[in-house]
Amino acid sequence: MYNSRKKPQDDIPEEITPIWSCTSESCNGWMRDNFSFSTEPSCPQCQSPMVKGEKKLAVLVNTSPRQTKK
Ligand SMILES: [Zn+2]
Repeated sequence: MYNSRKKPQDDIPEEITPIWSCTSESCNGWMRDNFSFSTEPSCPQCQSPMVKGEKKLAVLVNTSPRQTKK
């Protein structure tokens, strides 16, 4: 009875996701474009300006039903 084991990570679907990426070459900071910035954000790591781009990321699932919550 090993059916209850977690599935491997590669079972997570991926999609091209809009992101902001840091313009500093010495920094690889980036963030998801989930927050609808009205202005261009600054890198949280080095405060450099960020440019919009794309990245292939695992799909975020916000609706995760929790059977037990304590
Ligand atoms: Zn940065």
